[in-house]
Amino acid sequence: MMPFKCMPNCGYCCTISPVTVFPHEMIILRMLAEDLDVKDLTFKPGYVILDVKNGVRIALSYLMQLNDEGRCPFLEPSTKACLVHSLYKPLTCRSFPYLPRVIRYVIDPELKLVDFDVEFVVSSLCPVIKNNYSMEDLELMSRNVRVAVKVMPKEVNAAEEAIRVRKIYADTLTALWRAGLVELRGGDGNNNNNVNWPLVNAFEYIRYFMPSISLESFVPNITSIIRGLRE
Ligand code: SF4
Ligand code: SF4
Repeated sequence: MMPFKCMPNCGYCCTISPVTVFPHEMIILRMLAEDLDVKDLTFKPGYVILDVKNGVRIALSYLMQLNDEGRCPFLEPSTKACLVHSLYKPLTCRSFPYLPRVIRYVIDPELKLVDFDVEFVVSSLCPVIKNNYSMEDLELMSRNVRVAVKVMPKEVNAAEEAIRVRKIYADTLTALWRAGLVELRGGDGNNNNNVNWPLVNAFEYIRYFMPSISLESFVPNITSIIRGLRE
C-alpha cells in the first residue's frame, strides 16, 4: 500500500463534524482561541460519567463544534490552514483519518476501576483514502495496527498518544475512587443522565483533588507555546 500523505490545502476533515477533544485540550484550545482572536469556539460535552458521592457529572471528552459556516473555528477559510497547527493541534485532528470507531468504557463499582478499550477504523471520508485505497486495504489497516503504522505512521502515533492520555484519565479516576474521594458510575455515557448535577471538566475535577496534575502532565511544552504566543 502506498504511504498516506495528506493533500495540501484540503481541510475537508475540518468541516465534516464536531471534533472530539480531551478535557485538557478544551482548556488549551480556549486559551489559544483567546490569543488568536478566534471568536466562535464552542464545545458541547461528549462522554459523561457520574460521581454519585459528590453529585457531579464528569465530562471525559468534549465536542468542538463547527461554526455557522460549517467549519472548525481554527480553519482559515481561504488558505485552509489550521491556525493551531504549529501550536497545539488536538490529537483527533493529528490522527485523522485513523480514528476510534468505538471507545468502550468500563466503570466497575466492584473493582472500583475505570478502564476502556478502543477499536480503530480508517475513514474513507478523507478523499486521499477514498481515491487511493481499496475496501480491503481499509479493513486490513483497521484490524491490524502493524499494517496501519506502515502506511500512516504519524497518524497512528497520534492515535496511540490519545490512548496514553485516555489511560492517564482512567488511572487517575481509578486512584481517586480507591482512595474513597469519588464514587463513579457509567451513566448512559452521554450528557442525558437524567440528573441535574453540575457538569465538571474531568481535567479540572482531577486537579481539584490532585493539584500537582497540570496541563504539562499531558502536553509537556504547552506553557512555553502559550508564553511564546503572548510575547
Ligand atoms: S486528512 Fe484527508 S480530509 Fe483531512 S486534510 Fe488531509 S487529505 Fe484532507
Ligand atoms: S483544529 Fe485544525 S486540524 Fe483540527 S479541525 Fe480545527 S482546523 Fe482542522
